[in-house]
Amino acid sequence: MRLARLAMKRLACLYAIVGAVALAAVSFGAEGTTRVLIVTGGHAFEEGPFFQLFRDNPDIAFVAAEHDGASATAWERDDLATFDAVVLYDMPRSITPAQQGKMRSLFERGAGLLVLHHALVSFQDWPDYERIIGGRYPQPPAGHPQVSDAVGYQHDVDVPVTILDTRHPVTAGMKDFTIRDEIYWGFRVGGDVHPLLGTTHPKAGKPLMWTRTEGKSRVVFLQLGHDRHAFDNPNFRDLVARSIRWSARRSGGTMTPRMATCGTFSVVGVASRIGRGSESPELFARICVSRFDNIGRGATARADSGRP
Ligand SMILES: [Zn+2]
Repeated sequence: MRLARLAMKRLACLYAIVGAVALAAVSFGAEGTTRVLIVTGGHAFEEGPFFQLFRDNPDIAFVAAEHDGASATAWERDDLATFDAVVLYDMPRSITPAQQGKMRSLFERGAGLLVLHHALVSFQDWPDYERIIGGRYPQPPAGHPQVSDAVGYQHDVDVPVTILDTRHPVTAGMKDFTIRDEIYWGFRVGGDVHPLLGTTHPKAGKPLMWTRTEGKSRVVFLQLGHDRHAFDNPNFRDLVARSIRWSARRSGGTMTPRMATCGTFSVVGVASRIGRGSESPELFARICVSRFDNIGRGATARADSGRP
């Protein structure tokens, strides 16, 4: 009986220590995580591997929002001011004045903006968008050839990528690489952009990546990113992660405890100390997943928008 009471006391003590450490990790992560809104809609894409690259980023918690098809409705979200950065992987044709105002509110408070791939084609009739993102792919009108010598695209190209700025935080330390991806040509590039990536591919438009400042915000454009060949490419993943971090004005390095650390601590650490059969590993895993796990946040967002 006495032994059993002693064992219970030790168990309670372990629960308390483990619980305190787990909760400390939760609060640290919540403060350090970069909140990212990922906007899609208006162009098909490989959703699974695309969102996986963000799920695999331990520094961010993301929410996915999809335009409803009529206009750029993702900008009407009430929680827009809560995001540190917005990623555009959308291609809507139209945007209302109210939606334009919501986008501009980003630049008044200095939130980051990362514009990927086909988002270079959005809002053909809104000149400010070209200035904001630093370029425009001029989509030929319906009925005209969509691919010509002047403007066009080509899939599944082995693109030789060159680092143009080896000191910028987004590209520092990176080496030239080759990526299988879609090239565009004939796109316009603003005079005030700072180029980060180029290519020696003769047909591809240049540069492939640039930055500029809009209001208080850092804007990054990356032309790469058509499909899983890019989404699974470690260089592409690195560029996306660094662009989010830099545009959101976060310092370098991993900013938060990794979800893996949290999960390992919860499931393996607690289980090995207290023993199998305890419900605590599951309890702590649930705390961690609900607070940290991007998959959980993505799933919530998918429920909001109908599709990821
Ligand atoms: Zn594409």
